[in-house]
Amino acid sequence: MRKFLKKHYVIAPGPTPVPNEILTEGAKETIHHRTPQFMALMEETLENAKYVFQTKNTVYALASTGTGAMEAAVANLVSPGDKVVVVVAGKFGERWKELCQVYGANIVEIALEWGEAVTPERIEKALRDHPDAKVVFTTHCETSTGTTIDLEGIAKVTKDKDVVLVTDAVSALCAEPLKMDEWGVDVVVTGSQKALMLPPGLALITLNEKAWKLVEQSKSPRYYFDLREYKKSYPDNPYTPAVNMIYMLNKSLKMLKEEGIENVWERHRVLADATRAAVRALGLELFSKRPSNVVTAVKVPEGIDGKQIPKIMRDKYGVTIAGGQSKLKGKIFRIAHLGYMSPFDIITAITALELTLKELGYEFELGAGVRAAESVFAKEFVGE
Ligand SMILES: *Cc1c(COP(=O)(O)O)cnc(C)c1O
Repeated sequence: MRKFLKKHYVIAPGPTPVPNEILTEGAKETIHHRTPQFMALMEETLENAKYVFQTKNTVYALASTGTGAMEAAVANLVSPGDKVVVVVAGKFGERWKELCQVYGANIVEIALEWGEAVTPERIEKALRDHPDAKVVFTTHCETSTGTTIDLEGIAKVTKDKDVVLVTDAVSALCAEPLKMDEWGVDVVVTGSQKALMLPPGLALITLNEKAWKLVEQSKSPRYYFDLREYKKSYPDNPYTPAVNMIYMLNKSLKMLKEEGIENVWERHRVLADATRAAVRALGLELFSKRPSNVVTAVKVPEGIDGKQIPKIMRDKYGVTIAGGQSKLKGKIFRIAHLGYMSPFDIITAITALELTLKELGYEFELGAGVRAAESVFAKEFVGE
């Protein structure tokens, strides 16, 4: 068999590819953080960060991955014994639950089949049954199942109630429409290595006034993630900020702002549409009941060894997608359309998928998936 050069393509839901314009920002000299120059940069960066959340609330940068911002949310909002509603429909919902357990919350779990999306009605019922619940924890896009929830509808339920709505938008921010203030979402957390097109290592969190009331009251122990300290020192940081990550975030936010957030959301939607069209054309089934624009989760067809799909794609073709996590291992595979990805990344992923499926003995017409994806792009590029 002929050997080709193997180029690497990351088409996984994080870490995602980082554009060169951003990488070179990160290579600049590390300046001291307690300087007027760095303070000006920090202020500009965090000011620009408000745009991607569509909020007027202050945004804080934490030197951690997204999970750190999740822990910060729980530690600062939940006191031991507080009743909280937690939606669990995948791996990241489970993470909210585990964090709430660690901080001693009294958990009302909305446990769904993985791949299902919680509805506003379901949240409304939980709050009717538990009017003393203080916080609702949701996952905007459950990356493990490729499912996006109706966050706008859910915020309509919580907005005028005495309850704080928290969402994990680590993968969803910039990939799915989110209008924090207009919708009335109280707390949003995100991480750097998804649609923000950055390496891992930085998390962002933003809270409104309603949420800050709980922060002031929380009796949970906190130190590094004590948000009161971040508020006090803003735009300075209570500890050493991730200086070079801030350089890169500054650049990424400028790029996203210049593109326009609606265009950013829309390009994710088109890549997702093309991916879904390709998958269906191959006779495969989507796993999610409410598919996201972040990542497409696909059911492994009957009789095929699911674990082999991402493995062959990576090792033979250099195309890294994601397999299933936890109980979905071997049952699904996930193709991302997240962050710095173009239509040609999708075409590449689908081509590698087709070659892999052919090798594994799945029957389909070679090229059907690529043709379906290309048709979606033709409509965008050529208008037909
Ligand atoms: C990636 C991701 C996280 C954060 O994971 P880290 O490993 O801490 O970066 C959290 N929630 C969701 C939905 C994610 O996709």
